Amino acid sequence: MSVKRNGCCTLCDEPVFEITDRFPASDPRAGQPRGIGKALEGARRVGLVLTDGSTVTLSFCDACAPGITDRLGEIWRKCLDTMAFNHENLAAIKGRPLTPEEQASSEEVLLGLAAMVPLGVVTDLPWSDYDDRLRLGL
Ligand SMILES: [Zn+2]
Repeated sequence: MSVKRNGCCTLCDEPVFEITDRFPASDPRAGQPRGIGKALEGARRVGLVLTDGSTVTLSFCDACAPGITDRLGEIWRKCLDTMAFNHENLAAIKGRPLTPEEQASSEEVLLGLAAMVPLGVVTDLPWSDYDDRLRLGL
């Protein structure tokens, strides 16, 4: 199972943001990036449209971004594996037992995503442009 890492390219796992903190040994994601800072040079912010018309935003490095359309199945599999990992480890991630409602809600989200596939790329911007737009309030 290949799991996405915070602040890293969805395909190759190379950091695309500054990594400011890592999960402690007590967390199921021990050693993986926890806190992220500014986008690094070449970081891409890519929106994919799913079969129900909703979109998801993912980050890629500039080496992987040109091949996204040909690797949608691989990308989506990694997203689902990540959601499954988080679902299976949710109590450890939260540091307490789950309520029945939390368990059911997590299962519902996972099953909902598993029922969809990405149809294509709808946006592909440098993260630096996106940060600039936020700063300008556009
Ligand atoms: Zn990459």
